[in-house]
Amino acid sequence: MDLGIAGKRALVCASSKGLGLGCAEALAGAGVNLVMNARGSDALEASAQAIRDAHGVDVQTVACDVTTAEGQAVLIEAATGADILVNNAGGPPPGMWSDWERDDFIKALDANMLAPIALMKALMPGMIERGWGRVVNITSQSVRSPIAVLGLSNSARAGLTGYVAGTARQVAGKGVIINNLLPGIHATDRADALDGGVVKQQGITLDEARAQRAATIPAGRYGTRQEFGAACAFLCSQHVGFIVGQNLLIDGGATNLTM
Ligand code: NAP
Repeated sequence: MDLGIAGKRALVCASSKGLGLGCAEALAGAGVNLVMNARGSDALEASAQAIRDAHGVDVQTVACDVTTAEGQAVLIEAATGADILVNNAGGPPPGMWSDWERDDFIKALDANMLAPIALMKALMPGMIERGWGRVVNITSQSVRSPIAVLGLSNSARAGLTGYVAGTARQVAGKGVIINNLLPGIHATDRADALDGGVVKQQGITLDEARAQRAATIPAGRYGTRQEFGAACAFLCSQHVGFIVGQNLLIDGGATNLTM
C-alpha cells in the first residue's frame, strides 16, 4: 500500500532504539524525511546512518532529553515545519503504590504527559496552517488495563490520553489527525529491564522470565519494533483522515477486552 507520505517530514522522539526506532524506520521506508532524537548520541548517530543507508531519506539528529523544557526547545527548532510528530520517551520505573512521592509523579508527568503535550502545542499550529498533519503518541496498554507495578505510567499516560481525546476532535477538521498507539510487551531494552525485575524478584533466568511472560500473551510471543513501526506509519499516512483520537492496542491480544 502506498502510504502517500513520501517527501513529508517527521519528528520522531526517543528513536535511537526500540519502538521509536521502529517508527522512524517505517516512516523512512515510506519516504519520509526525519528528525530523530535520543539522549545518547552514539546509538542515535548509528541508527540515523543505518536509516539513511537503507532508505535514502534525509535524517537530522538531535541529541537531547525530550522530557526537559530545554530539550523540547531544541527539538521544536529543529522540527519547524514538520508534518508528522511521533511522541515518545522512556517509561517510568516500576514500584508499589506507596513508593512514589510528588517528585516521582512530576517526573513521570513531564516524560509521559507534558512533553508530548508541549510538542503538540508547538508543532500543530504549523500543521493546521498547512492543512495537513499527523500525530502519534506512544503510550501503553496500561491505559486500557492497569499494570499494577507501573502506577506512575498508568497515571501519567491516562492524563495524556484524556488530553488527546478532546484535542483530536478540535483539530481533525483542520486536517490534523491525532491517535495513540498502545504497546503491549515488545522485545526492546525496556522489556529486558522489566524482565530483569522479575529475574531478581523470582530468582529465575531471563529466558525463563521471558517465557513466563510470553505464555500470558495470546499470540504466544513478544511484539517486534518492525510490527509496531508499520502500525505507526499507517497512522501517519494519507489513509487515516477519518480515524480520530483512537487508542490502538498492539499487544498480541494480551489485554482481555471485548472492545
Ligand atoms: P527502549 O527500548 O528503552 O528505548 C527507548 C528509546 O528512547 C531509546 O532510544 C532512548 O535513548 C530514548 N529515550 C529514553 N528516554 C529519553 C529521553 N528522556 N529523551 C530522549 N530520548 C529518550 O524503550 P521502548 O521499549 O522502545 O519503549 C518506548 C516507550 O514505550 C516507553 O515509554 C515505554 O514505557 C513504552 N512501552 C514499552 C513497552 C515494551 O514492551 N517495550 C510496553 C508498553 C509501553 P537514550 O536512552 O539514549 O535517550
